[in-house]
Formats: sequence, structure tokens, C-alpha cells
Amino acid sequence: MTAADPVRDHDVVIVGAGPVGLLLACLLAQQGIDVVICERRSGDDLRSRAIGIHPPGLAMLDRAGVGAAVRAEALALSGGEVLSRGRVLASLSFPADRAVRVLPQQRTHALLRQRLDELAPGALQAGRTVRAVRDEGGFVRVRVDVGNRRREITAAFAVIADGVHSGLRATLGSDWRRRPGRAGYAMADVPDPSAGTRALLHCEPGGLVESFPLPGGMRRWVVRAAAGSDLSSADGFRAAIRGRTGDDPAIGSGVVPVAFVAAQHLTRMPVRGRTVLLGDAAHEISPIGGQGMNLGWVNAGRLAAALRSALGQGEADLGDYARAALRAARTAQSRCAFYMAMGAPSRGLPLTAREAVIRALGSAPFREWATGLVTMRGL
Ligand SMILES: Cc1cc2nc3c(=O)[nH]c(=O)nc-3n(C[C@H](O)[C@H](O)[C@H](O)COP(=O)(O)OP(=O)(O)OC[C@H]3O[C@@H](n4cnc5c(N)ncnc54)[C@H](O)[C@@H]3O)c2cc1C
Repeated sequence: MTAADPVRDHDVVIVGAGPVGLLLACLLAQQGIDVVICERRSGDDLRSRAIGIHPPGLAMLDRAGVGAAVRAEALALSGGEVLSRGRVLASLSFPADRAVRVLPQQRTHALLRQRLDELAPGALQAGRTVRAVRDEGGFVRVRVDVGNRRREITAAFAVIADGVHSGLRATLGSDWRRRPGRAGYAMADVPDPSAGTRALLHCEPGGLVESFPLPGGMRRWVVRAAAGSDLSSADGFRAAIRGRTGDDPAIGSGVVPVAFVAAQHLTRMPVRGRTVLLGDAAHEISPIGGQGMNLGWVNAGRLAAALRSALGQGEADLGDYARAALRAARTAQSRCAFYMAMGAPSRGLPLTAREAVIRALGSAPFREWATGLVTMRGL
């Protein structure tokens, strides 16, 4: 707690211990800021989600003191090929200092949790559901359910990182606007001892098929839903890959593909007084491009600096943070909408034009720029 205001319980209360809330908590705790993080789950989040960690995200993990542990477990992706109709349209290689790391979100999450426990034991309070956050002018009041009991916490600032289905966003009066880019996909992580270190992106007439090597001899396949494809079973999933790419990966009949809808939304009001929306609660970024968690981390880094300065000066103006966070989210969403369009089902002239665009992006004059684009340069 800052000496200036002894009535507050904490400097900052964070709602949600996903990867973004956890990273922010680590950054704040490292700066000596008194932070508490309320998480409604008591156990682990077992959903299979992010795998890609881009250079700006890794820089934030380094800042939080967890980068070395992530590097030790992650696979370093050396680059990848974009293909269509049996031809390689573009081949990108990531420079050593801009390698994309691949690590399942559950592991990244566990390492962040461990780091927070080292930095601020007891800061993570599990089994606590936040029901309301009220800005009282000079501080925030947070209503929390702990089992059947109701508690109140006060803090100088509240950061709401409660995910894409944020229950608190609407209660703050924040908007949630749809942005371009929406489609259905299915994915499956399967054993593949020869997975290598390169990604394959098939932008086929029948729709996108992506495959990424994972650590531990695994591979993730992602297939875009399209008319005529049944992606709900292992056999249908495998048949779609075979039909579109000619590859026939060993996907056992016991594998259950996970369906998901990639969509994009944004709030134009990530900051309201002393309350901030962060991570997926502030911006839904299509998983095609793998940028949502990374962008949440980058904005967590910006927010940690802004909160430190606001707490030091005893003021509540986070306007510069809000503008920078919004700009970055809009840029990431535009890039992801472009990636999704490159993998939509297509035929005839539009397909030929799309292939020409991808070829141009992979050609010598544009290759470095395209590599920067996919590795989140400038965000
Ligand atoms: C299939 C898929 C693949 C993806 N791949 C990538 C990728 O490769 N790279 C990438 O950068 N991103 C990727 N993403 C996106 C990434 O998973 C999200 O951006 C990331 O999980 C967002 O983190 P978060 O901390 O903001 O929210 P979440 O991870 O959703 O965490 C929110 C937390 O808040 C808690 N909570 C909710 N309500 C309350 C409450 N009232 N009180 C207390 N706690 C609460 C929840 O229990 C949860 O723990 C992918 C997403 C999907 C679906």
C-alpha cells in the first residue's frame, strides 16, 4: 500500500488470474506495488488454447523474470512455409532474435503462477469471484464472493482481466464492438515425433489447414470449417486435411477435435477512471495469427508502467495508456483479419489473386517486412 492513503487495502486489485492478469501481477509485485489477484477458479484451467509466443510477448515474460524458464521448455520455431495447391508460395525464416516460441498455454500459465508465488506469496487468491467493481472517486471498491461469504476489498486501481466473456465489462458500461474477421475452425494436438521446427500454412481452395510443431514430439493441426467438411470427428478432420493438402497425418480415431469460432471484438473504453479492462476482456483477437495473449502481455507491460507512475504521483489519469492499448489492438485485429482472409475457402480469380499476394509477401523485397508482420513487430 502506498503511504499516501492508509484506508485502501491494496494499491491494485486484479480480477482474473489468466496469463494476462498473472503477468501484470508479476510486473507490479516486482516494482514493490501491493497487488492482489482474485481468481474464481480453484483448480487449473485445462483448456487447450495459446501456443505461440511472439518476440514482444517474450520480452514481457523476460521483464517479469520468467522468460528463461519459458525458453527452456518451449520449442523455437525457425520459420514456416505458406502453400497452396501443392506449391510453396512463401517461405519465411525467423532471425534468431525474433524466433517464435511454442509452448502450450497451460505450461506458460503454470510458470507465471510459480513466479508470482515467489514474488508475492499470497497475492493470488483462488476461489474468489468478483461480483462488482465500483469507482468511488479516490479509490475502487470490489465486491468478492468467497464461497458463501461476501467480502469487500478496496484499492487505488482495479484491473479487470476476466477474459473474453467478461461478466464485469458490461456492468462498467463499456462497449464491445464487433470487428472484421469471423470464422469457424477445429484443432487437434496429436503425437508427431518428426514434428521439426517449421510451421506449415496451407491456404487451399477448400480452406485453411495449419500445422505447428509443439514441444515433446507433438503437432497442432488447425482446420477451417467449410461446407462439405465434417470436423467433429477424428476421421472427418483427417479427411479434410487429406482432401485439401494431400497429406494424411496419423490422427488416431480416439482424437476429439476441438471446435472454436475465431471472432474479433474491441472495447473503445479500456479505461474508466480507476478501472481498466485488460487482455481478452478488452480485445478479442482471432487465434489465427496467435496474438491475443501476446497482445494482452504487451499491454500489461504498458499498464504496469502507467500504474506505477499514477500511484507515484497520486493521480488517476491513464489516458495515454488507453490510447496506446487501443492502437495496438486495432493493428493486431487488422493483421489477423488479413490472415483469416488468406485462409478462407476460395476459387477462380480471387484464389489466383490471393496466391499472387502471398507470393509477393514472400519475395525478397517484402520478406523481411512480412516476417516482422507475423512476429508482431511494432505492437
Ligand atoms: C484455440 C485458441 C488458440 C489460441 N492461440 C493463441 C496463440 O497461439 N497465441 C496467443 O497470443 N493467443 C492465443 N489465443 C488467445 C489466448 O488464449 C487468450 O488471448 C488468453 O487466454 C487471454 O488471457 P486473459 O488472461 O486475458 O484471459 P483468460 O485466459 O480468459 O483468463 C481470465 C481469467 O479470469 C477468471 N475470471 C473470470 N471471471 C471472473 C470473476 N468474476 N472473478 C474472478 N475471476 C474471474 C477466469 O476464471 C480466468 O482464469 C488462442 C485462443 C484460442 C481460443
